[in-house]
Amino acid sequence: MQLRDSILASFPHLCEAGQIRFGVPMKDYCSFKIGGLAEVFCVPQTQQHLIDLLVFCINGNIPYFILGKGSNLLISDKGLSGVVIATSAFTKITRDEDYISAFSGVLLKDLCDFAMEQGLSGLEFAHGIPGSVGGAVFMNAGAYGGEIKDVLYCSKCLVPNLESLTSSSPVLHLKAEEHKFSYRHSALQERSLIHLSSVFHLHHDTTDAIKQRMDMLEAQRWEKQPMNLPSAGSVFKRPEGYFTGKLVDDCGLRGFRIGDAAVSDKHCGFIVNLGSASAKEVLQVIRYVQKSVFDHFGVCLETEIRILGEP
Ligand SMILES: Cc1cc2nc3c(=O)[nH]c(=O)nc-3n(C[C@H](O)[C@H](O)[C@H](O)COP(=O)(O)OP(=O)(O)OC[C@H]3O[C@@H](n4cnc5c(N)ncnc54)[C@H](O)[C@@H]3O)c2cc1C
Repeated sequence: MQLRDSILASFPHLCEAGQIRFGVPMKDYCSFKIGGLAEVFCVPQTQQHLIDLLVFCINGNIPYFILGKGSNLLISDKGLSGVVIATSAFTKITRDEDYISAFSGVLLKDLCDFAMEQGLSGLEFAHGIPGSVGGAVFMNAGAYGGEIKDVLYCSKCLVPNLESLTSSSPVLHLKAEEHKFSYRHSALQERSLIHLSSVFHLHHDTTDAIKQRMDMLEAQRWEKQPMNLPSAGSVFKRPEGYFTGKLVDDCGLRGFRIGDAAVSDKHCGFIVNLGSASAKEVLQVIRYVQKSVFDHFGVCLETEIRILGEP
């Protein structure tokens, strides 16, 4: 049976409700505004729907991808086969004393604004990172000296295997140290865990002071980064002892362009989509930058963004 037929037969209500769709353009779901069609695109509304979809995929050996806000992705022009599962419906945020709990689909901006309104500090660094809580925990996102690992208290995840997903207690509880956080890395990546929610431990400050710090960092972002053009943020991880932007700039690649994909002339660590860039063009720029930096400085630039689908 074709995947579409099998989905229609297994999840008729979710399809009728528009929570499962077919042939969805991924460029509408990522900050680069690049990417072909997702064969199947699901927005589960409950944890059980999410589990049912995962069980369906694992049982059928069907590839699946968990999509947060799509702000760290380069998606192939040929699209994604299998099932894309978006977390955008999981948006609950609650407070309990100095702790804030947020579900995976909560936008970092909304989490940070909530913390600010509650007079809880610690998340100011994350305000301008355009991702979801799930993506941020998965990536150990960070900026301006702060990282998710500094404020994360614990998380709930799913383990992607049938035994765990179909057990009576499918939720795995991870304490902070069990996330094995390091620079842009977490145990969620190692174990392909699916993030459900996290609790952040914050400390008291005034709303005004928190807002002031957020505004200051926001202003720095707008000053230094190409915020008005589609991108996926810093394309490369920071190599130890170097600044990526400077390495790229020193190779003379500021503004280097293939088609509509270009090294940003504002921040050389970013590649921007100047209009209708393809994933292929972005990849060509990435490879060219990597080769130039290696040839000039002997430094290997590893990509931070996740590159998905066939090249
Ligand atoms: C303009 C701009 C500025 C940026 N600045 C920064 C910055 O300062 N610091 C920084 O760290 N990053 C930055 N980024 C990159 C990006 O915002 C972060 O990596 C963010 O954490 C990604 O979150 P997301 O929800 O968009 O994840 P996505 O891009 O949707 O996914 C990223 C990865 O996380 C996985 N994932 C997402 N949700 C889940 C989940 N619930 N369970 C399991 N896996 C999941 C995906 O499968 C994928 O592998 C920037 C991006 C842009 C466009």
